[in-house]
Amino acid sequence: MKFNLEEKFAQLFNQNAVATYFAPGRVNLIGEHIDYNGGLVMPCAITMGTWLTLSPNQEGKIRFKSLNFDEHGEMKPAEIQNKNQGFWFNYPVGIINEMINDGHQIPTLDMLYYGNVPIGSGLSSSASIEIATAFALNDFLALGYDKLQLVKMAKRVENEFIGVNSGIMDQYAVAFGEKDKAIVLDCDTLKSKLVEMDLGDYVLAIINTNKPRALAESKYNERVAECQTALKLLNEEISLHNLCELTFEKFALHSHLIQDETILKRATHVIKENDRVHLAAKALNNGQLQEFGRLMYASHESLKDLYEVSGKELDTIVDFCINYEPVIGARMTGAGFGGCAMALLKKGSEEDFAKQLSDYYFERIGYYAAIYISEIGNGPTKL
Ligand code: ADP
Ligand code: MG
Repeated sequence: MKFNLEEKFAQLFNQNAVATYFAPGRVNLIGEHIDYNGGLVMPCAITMGTWLTLSPNQEGKIRFKSLNFDEHGEMKPAEIQNKNQGFWFNYPVGIINEMINDGHQIPTLDMLYYGNVPIGSGLSSSASIEIATAFALNDFLALGYDKLQLVKMAKRVENEFIGVNSGIMDQYAVAFGEKDKAIVLDCDTLKSKLVEMDLGDYVLAIINTNKPRALAESKYNERVAECQTALKLLNEEISLHNLCELTFEKFALHSHLIQDETILKRATHVIKENDRVHLAAKALNNGQLQEFGRLMYASHESLKDLYEVSGKELDTIVDFCINYEPVIGARMTGAGFGGCAMALLKKGSEEDFAKQLSDYYFERIGYYAAIYISEIGNGPTKL
């Protein structure tokens, strides 16, 4: 939903905005902890996202404001390579820095953001603000990048400028999402296919655990390292670039190389989860939403027991869903340890679901979850 952003812009910057853009957030439907293992993931863009409205200014500085944050930034284009420790505007600064490094002249601009993706909850508000910025400046200044270049640029910003060690899925999903379509993305080749996802009588319910972030980053890095260990061990007998090159049958022939039980569990999750994405795409192609739901539950169980990235908050949500008849599938989504879960929920049950799940969650966790009903939305657009 738009926040009367142009009006706010006029109040805050004392001039009128000349262009407004939107980029969505994303949710990963299935294929979790797969992107850094070179397999298949299945994200989609959601209808929540980030709006950016802008105008050139005569102030000699690029000025950044966001309705989501109190701090604002301003910087001369020549100072743009400087990171400002911990500030939100590092995201747009990182994008502009990339564009300047590519030899583009960036004029001084006023930029105002607003996002309704819950921030820091695994729905990728970061990829949303990166792609909103990259898409907007590319269009507004006619810089001539194609979408894949913008995706790679945004990923570099996330990895190198911000310092978050993540795969390419988030930026890709945000940039290439389409309404009512899931993206099947091969994270090794970066080839993707859109698959029709007709939700029919169902909606996508997204449930934010509201768990304060703690261990997520170090645990994420630990999982990445464990997968690299598994790959190295398997490479004693076969030559592999990525774990996801193996089917489960082939993996079973070589899994004796992995003695460590933990590493074996991690690799088993990755390979079976990758298989599940194939099955999920097939289910969508055949219009079998129930089967898709079953695969979501199976994915969650594997993330909980084999990959050990769930936690009592996410498990509480999924446990509720298993016993709540109007839900046909649910799982944690994103890196885990908190963040969000998602469920396929029968239309008409939204209110009852929210009420019952809220009570159930509060009783067990001691604070409330937030529940959003979303649709599968489009990628970035000029409004
Ligand atoms: P996630 O991507 O899971 O939402 P991250 O920690 O990766 O969480 O990214 C969140 C950060 O992205 C915020 O702390 C902020 O710096 C930036 N960000 C996202 N949306 C906005 C926004 N609307 N306005 C300003 N900064 C934003
Ligand atoms: Mg992020």
